[in-house]
Amino acid sequence: MKAETIKKTGMYENVMKQFNHAADVMGLDEGIRKILSSTNNEIVVHFPVKMDNGKIEVFTGYRVQHNNALGPYKGGLRYHPTVDIDAARALAIWMTWKSALAGLPYGGGKGGIEIDPEKYSISELERITRRFTYALGDNIGPDLDIPAPDVNTNPQIMAWIADTYVSTKSPSTRHLNLHVVTGKPIGSGGLEGRDRATGFGVVATIKSWAKLKNKTLEGKRYIVQGFGNVGYWAAHFLEKEGAKLIGVQDASGTIYNEEGINPEDLIQYCDANRGLIAGFPNVELIDGSNFFELDCDILIPAALGNQITAENAHFIKAELIAEGANGPTNVDAEEILLARGIDVIPDILCNSGGVTGSYYEWLQNKRSENWKISAILDLLQDKIETAFDKVVATAEFYKTDWRTSAYIVALLRLEQTYKERGVFP
Ligand code: NAD
Repeated sequence: MKAETIKKTGMYENVMKQFNHAADVMGLDEGIRKILSSTNNEIVVHFPVKMDNGKIEVFTGYRVQHNNALGPYKGGLRYHPTVDIDAARALAIWMTWKSALAGLPYGGGKGGIEIDPEKYSISELERITRRFTYALGDNIGPDLDIPAPDVNTNPQIMAWIADTYVSTKSPSTRHLNLHVVTGKPIGSGGLEGRDRATGFGVVATIKSWAKLKNKTLEGKRYIVQGFGNVGYWAAHFLEKEGAKLIGVQDASGTIYNEEGINPEDLIQYCDANRGLIAGFPNVELIDGSNFFELDCDILIPAALGNQITAENAHFIKAELIAEGANGPTNVDAEEILLARGIDVIPDILCNSGGVTGSYYEWLQNKRSENWKISAILDLLQDKIETAFDKVVATAEFYKTDWRTSAYIVALLRLEQTYKERGVFP
């Protein structure tokens, strides 16, 4: 899907429709609905950076802080041409629900820079990142707003953010600020396993779904849109359950092989090919617009928002959609999918392994500890199973779909907090 199309369809409109529907179903307090309908802070920065050719370019960066009733704002930074204030708003709002649903002491924030990182050298990206961090200044902080990786940002970028941020602090307090950002590389205070936390969580929800429906994942054919952090790790863990990857789409093209595509071979190829799948051998190249129509059992969107729409929802063959991405399904499409009996594990549950992994990294840094990957994955598995069961039980109680019930679990937590504390003054 082209960048301009994504902007026009509007993730913000989508998240607000989902929110208002859930608020209606549960009967959310009117005042709290008003509070949660708006964002607390919206920061837009314009900052200059010197390019490799000596010329100056001015970039625009965003950080939207939706709500912090439950704790510091938390959410990723995205480097992509579709980043704008509406996208940052929508993604920040989803983070509030996600953190609340997972029972984490966080609110929701999101941001990024409106750029195509492909067009810049590594050293330019470093200067852009550092200058963006400097421009955000004390609008972020380890107990205020904690960014993390998202589309086109990675542990290296997080390390530059942490280094720039702590460099603005006095030497004796630098180590106290390391957790200003999560998703860092291990040597810079990162958590073992944070890289795979989101994909691991996606598969944990798929396993819970299979258990609920009394199905086996052995032999299930699945397709993945986006083969970055979330898409690859989801495939890595789903393969271990005996499922077979038959189709992948990314920004460079769409590949298909009925006999199966080995995720480890594909990621090795991507690592040597600027992260892209184009040119991977022994697969059929297919038209990207047919991707969602592929005959498969499980579909994992793990790229951008608003990919599953009323235009393609009628043709989806999968029995399950596990939303690795944020906001991949719009409201019109979901109505069609539900009417067709297709299960959807909603994003705020399905990809919550990422923010939960980030929480463990944050705790590890706060306590100056180093946690073991095996313990982290056990904690994640347990947390996601609990959230999944809660969403299913709440859906039964309210006689509603899983997305609405996931929202209700989150909103009940926020409503309780506001009711107990009141609104200052
Ligand atoms: P990434 O940058 O590692 O990977 C993004 C992938 O999407 C790449 O393979 C890219 O080629 C592909 N892509 C980009 N444009 C596309 C297009 N138009 N069509 C098809 N594919 C396209 O990003 P990521 O961290 O894996 O994030 C993917 C999604 O998961 C995003 O929606 C993000 O918000 C969400 N998410 C990420 C995390 C995390 O921990 N990284 C956590 C929760 C949710």
